[in-house]
Amino acid sequence: MTGTLYLVPTPIGNLGDISRRCAETLAAADFVAAEDTRVSLKLLNHLELKKSLVSYHEHNKKESGPRIVERLLAGESCALVTDAGCPAISDPGEDLVRLCAEAGVPVCALPGPCAAITALSVSALATGRFAFEGFLPPQNKERRARLERLKTEERTMIFYEAPHHLRATLEDLFAAFGSERRISLCRELTKLHEEVLRLSLGQALAFYADNPPRGEYVLVVSGAELRQQAVSPEQAVELVKALIAEGMRTKEAVRQIAEETGVSKNLLYGAVTKSS
Ligand code: SAM
Repeated sequence: MTGTLYLVPTPIGNLGDISRRCAETLAAADFVAAEDTRVSLKLLNHLELKKSLVSYHEHNKKESGPRIVERLLAGESCALVTDAGCPAISDPGEDLVRLCAEAGVPVCALPGPCAAITALSVSALATGRFAFEGFLPPQNKERRARLERLKTEERTMIFYEAPHHLRATLEDLFAAFGSERRISLCRELTKLHEEVLRLSLGQALAFYADNPPRGEYVLVVSGAELRQQAVSPEQAVELVKALIAEGMRTKEAVRQIAEETGVSKNLLYGAVTKSS
């Protein structure tokens, strides 16, 4: 009978976050496929488990993946772990899951630590709708083009980033989204130096000009503000009139409503000065 591939999430810092079910699954698997066997050995030692380990990572996945699938088809069970967090999320586990699905090998995902979700939950930004963006492309041109397409994204966005790219990425986020956009920089989650900075992009750039980025980061960025496109030009004119009636100067009322509704200032100004 075909074996099962178990996706076993591992702690993103604090070893206490391994669940009992994850530990039991590791113990029961015939072998463990690990991104970095030295990293996973530490976890297995912590759990007092001695397991047969195979290496499966970005640079050997083309050869290692089919070998793992062969063993699964022959009836062995495999627990897949990555260096930290949830396998298959921004790591080569994604390819192994696809190979298994194509070969008809059952895949069982266990719930557990994931850097993206941990960061989102502590970000204090809107969590109802979000877009996971993973790592931005490392090349400047591709990175900026990706951010250009995200300018109008209304959902909260989640990015993974390495510390040595953080400043360049903040500059590009600033250029694409503007200085006022909110960002939560979630650093070293679940570790000794865990820190969450909730800032505007302008403040974040200024902060990291003086402080070198250290450790692992998830960046959570608020989505674009919804434009109130549902407001018709006629309704916008009425809103301007209401503000004027409350004592606001015409010019100021026109500016505010134009900004809030997207209706042109000229149209609003023309309409209210004509009718007065
Ligand atoms: N599959 C993993 C997951 O989703 O949890 C993520 C793997 S990805 C190769 C590694 C990235 O996750 C890091 O570059 C960083 O952006 C983020 N990360 C992992 N651990 C973290 C931590 N303790 N604090 C903040 N970010 C972390």
